[in-house]
Amino acid sequence: MASQPPLPGIRAVIAVSSAKGGVGKSTTAVNLAVAMARRGKRVAMLDADVFGPSLPRLLGIRGTPHTLDDERLEPMQGHGVGCMSIGFLVEEATPMIWRGAMVMGAIEQLIQDVAWGDLDVLVLDLPPGTGDAQLSITQRIPLTGAVIVSTPQDVALLDTRKGIAMLRKVNVPIFGLIENMSYFHCPSCDGRSDIFGHGGAKAAAKDLGIDFLGEIPLDVALRETADAGTPIVVAAPESAIAATYFQIAERLLEAIDAKADDPSRSAPKIVVE
Ligand code: ADP
Repeated sequence: MASQPPLPGIRAVIAVSSAKGGVGKSTTAVNLAVAMARRGKRVAMLDADVFGPSLPRLLGIRGTPHTLDDERLEPMQGHGVGCMSIGFLVEEATPMIWRGAMVMGAIEQLIQDVAWGDLDVLVLDLPPGTGDAQLSITQRIPLTGAVIVSTPQDVALLDTRKGIAMLRKVNVPIFGLIENMSYFHCPSCDGRSDIFGHGGAKAAAKDLGIDFLGEIPLDVALRETADAGTPIVVAAPESAIAATYFQIAERLLEAIDAKADDPSRSAPKIVVE
């Protein structure tokens, strides 16, 4: 098949996924997207986490998107990153009851009806889990690669293994695993404690033959800055945590360069075993 950009004008699409909710997937996705934008890339994010859209809050964006030419929505902007989220279109407290097909329909509409412009990277914040919603997204959107976020606990890692197996089945390249809430960094004594155990994700990555991209501690400043709408890569760009995000972002950009223009890449195929 001829070489095609994943979507018109969009050079690469990266999915950030996690097998469970609450592991810091969206926080990670936002910090990586903003880090890439700070490295001069044209970056936008699509909140595919329709069950709990959090990108508007994490990117500090309020309001509703404008309509361009009466048809397409203009992405909102936060910290140099474009963003579209179902969260802009419904009240925050509205419960989202979606079946898999509805999720896919909403996401396809969000992708197609938004005037993204030319982008180096579109970062997709996937809904957590490995159900049919995630499967349809990974099958129907030509992803350049996926990043997996996990906490160190065994139970999270067990689910993570399922997520990796799903991505492999649909032939999505896995750029690597990030261990979030890796250890606790105490702001008072500067000490560390391994609340959830530590290093589980690194060991699992080795075992599964995927790259380990880095570890982010459980950190009060990270949570406060994220929840206040200014990601730590902007609020404290000189911090050790921001440095880790910048390093991971650079590795992803290298991985994109290696994959994005690969002529053999096409829409993912399902492998039936
Ligand atoms: P998910 O997308 O996996 O559901 P979020 O990114 O929304 O998770 O994060 C859930 C909560 O955990 C948020 O309040 C966020 O600020 C916090 N959080 C995420 N990562 C960290 C971390 N490394 N240290 C402290 N708090 C974190």
